[in-house]
Amino acid sequence: MTNIKNVTDFGAGVLGSQIAYQAAFFGFNVTAWDINDDALQAGRERYRTLATRYINDNMPDAHIKANDVAENISLTTDKKEALKDADIVIEACPEILSLKQELWEEIGELAPSHTILCTNSSSLLPSDIKNYTGHPDRFLAYHFANEVWKHNTGEVMGTEDTNQEVFDTVVEFASEMGMVPIPVLKEKAGYLLNSLLIPFLSAAQGLAAFGFGSPKDIDKTWKIATGAPKGPFEILDIVGLTTAYNIASAGDETSRKVAAWLKENYIDKGKLGVGTGEGFYSYK
Ligand code: NAD
Repeated sequence: MTNIKNVTDFGAGVLGSQIAYQAAFFGFNVTAWDINDDALQAGRERYRTLATRYINDNMPDAHIKANDVAENISLTTDKKEALKDADIVIEACPEILSLKQELWEEIGELAPSHTILCTNSSSLLPSDIKNYTGHPDRFLAYHFANEVWKHNTGEVMGTEDTNQEVFDTVVEFASEMGMVPIPVLKEKAGYLLNSLLIPFLSAAQGLAAFGFGSPKDIDKTWKIATGAPKGPFEILDIVGLTTAYNIASAGDETSRKVAAWLKENYIDKGKLGVGTGEGFYSYK
């Protein structure tokens, strides 16, 4: 068992609220920091929605404690206050390198000397941030997937400077907060999950964009032949086509042709995925 009792979450947005709620649900004292009272209030509303989701998804004892968990997370806009008792910090702030570097400079100065420092960044490398923290030996990435209670992988990835004991503690802590820890043994953009998922989804989009098969038939093939519950286009509808478009636009010439196909046939028609009621499939 780790000695972690107090968890501080930075950022009460989509992922930060889920991380804070999951840690609180599993019995940790959680404090959430965000930039202003409106952002914190939005966070509280997210915790309340999560309480309902945990109950509906039959999480253990959710019907007894889920609503109390949503109210018991402490909120503050004061970084010093947020960090004063922190055993571990998990940062889920906007995916902008300079923003994270500045924020980590402050967190590194204010956090007690034993605090473990984690970023939940999806696409940035912890090595790009570690020196700003002032404590690279205590800094690493701890990466969650959206809907953390259901898709409960906790990818733990250090840098060359991360102390092995710190890494092992986060792996153990991940289990304590209901995650399945996934140690990533060497630093890699995309961790394990996105290193598999992005090429897979890109291959599927290429097959459809260049006319080799329809999205429905590609999904059908994948599901029947491998037993997977979802095909790539069903997954893309959940991820959102805007994200797929942004990734494809940043790639090589072939990839940019896929981006143009996505734009013309889906994005420009408002078909952005489950969130808008239609993507490759209709959810109306
Ligand atoms: P989000 O936009 O929903 O939340 C970001 C939060 O950070 C907001 O509450 C915002 O108020 C706050 N914030 C703190 N400092 C800020 C500043 N200076 N300016 C503006 N806002 C500030 O984002 P998110 O989707 O929760 O993503 C947060 C982090 O989690 C990112 O690093 C992202 O890569 C990572 N992540 C996201 C997902 C996902 O599916 N959304 C999955 C895994 C990891």
